[in-house]
Amino acid sequence: MTGHLEPAGRPLLPVLSHPMPAHPALDRPAVPDGLSVLDERRDDLYVLYRGPLASCNYDCPYCPFAKRVDPPELLRADRADLERFADWVEATTDRRLSVLFTPWGEGLTRSWYRDAIVRLSHLPHVARVAIQTNLAARTGWLAEADPRVAALWATYHPGQVTRERFLARCRELLALGVRFSVGVVGLPGHHAEAVALRDALPPEVYLWVNAAEGHVYTSEEERLWTALDPRFGDSVRPHPSLGLPCHAGETAISVLGDGTVRRCHFIKTPIGNLYDGTWRAALQPRSCTNALCDCHIGYVHLKPLGLRDVYTDGLLERIPAVWP
Ligand code: SF4
Ligand code: SF4
Repeated sequence: MTGHLEPAGRPLLPVLSHPMPAHPALDRPAVPDGLSVLDERRDDLYVLYRGPLASCNYDCPYCPFAKRVDPPELLRADRADLERFADWVEATTDRRLSVLFTPWGEGLTRSWYRDAIVRLSHLPHVARVAIQTNLAARTGWLAEADPRVAALWATYHPGQVTRERFLARCRELLALGVRFSVGVVGLPGHHAEAVALRDALPPEVYLWVNAAEGHVYTSEEERLWTALDPRFGDSVRPHPSLGLPCHAGETAISVLGDGTVRRCHFIKTPIGNLYDGTWRAALQPRSCTNALCDCHIGYVHLKPLGLRDVYTDGLLERIPAVWP
C-alpha cells in the first residue's frame, strides 16, 4: 500500500505497516461445527441491529438526530439491549453471522458499542462486525478487536469536523489495519470537500457517495459524483422494488433492541423475535412489499441488483470487492 501525496509533496497518509486483508472473512475458520464448506454460504445470516440510542455529538443540518441527548434511562436500556444481543450472537453458533450496527445516532462514543465490537470480532462464527459511525470517537480500542472481522462504515460530515481531523482518524485506522469505508452525503456544498478527501486518501480506501434525500441530480451532477464514487449510480435514484425478490427476511434481518425481528429496517411488520427463537421459522424467500428501496443498507439485498456479488465480504461496511 502506498502513501498519498498532498500537492506540497508531504505524505498525508503513511505507508501501512501491515496492509488491510482483502478477504478477511475467508482467512479464518468461520464454518460452524458440523457444517461443511458447502453449507457455509447457505447458513450466512446478515443482521442489522438498531437499539433505542438516538443521541449524537454532531449537529448535521440534514439529520433529525443532530445534537440529540438521550436521557440516562434510555442509555441504560440501550446498553442492556446491546449486551443481550451480543449474548445472542455468541450463543448462535449454527449460523455464520455478519452484524452491522446501524444506530440512529452515534454509537462509538458509548463504551458498550466498542466493547460489543471487540467481543464479537473474536467469535469464530462471526464473519463481520461493523458499525456506521461519524468517526469522532477515538480509535485505539480497535487494537483489541480482530482486524479480520471488525470494520467501520465512516461518514465524513463537512461542517462538523475538519477534513484534517477526519483524515487523522483514517490514518489511525490504516495503522491499525482495520477495514473501513469512507463516505459523504452528496450535497452540492459537500463536493469540494469530497474531492479533497478523495485526493488525500490512499486509492485502496473506498469512498462512497450517498445521494442526498430529496435531491434530484442533473446528469452533470451525477457525472461529477460518479467520478468520485464509481458506484454512485446505485444510490442516485431509488430502486423500484415492489414484488421483486429480496434477501431481506431470508438471509438478512433487522433487529430492534427488544429483539423484534423485521425483514429490513424499511418494512415495519415484525416477522418474529430473536429471543424466543421465532426468527428461525420466519426466514424464507420473500418479495418486497414497498414501492421503492432507496437506502444502501436495504437495496444491497435486493436480488435482481446482484450487489452481494459486487461487495462480497465487504457488503456490510460498504467496500466493493473491486472498483476502478
Ligand atoms: S453524525 Fe450522523 S447521526 Fe450525527 S447528526 Fe450527523 S448525520 Fe445525524
Ligand atoms: S427491497 Fe429494500 S425495502 Fe424491500 S424488502 Fe428488500 S431491503 Fe426491504
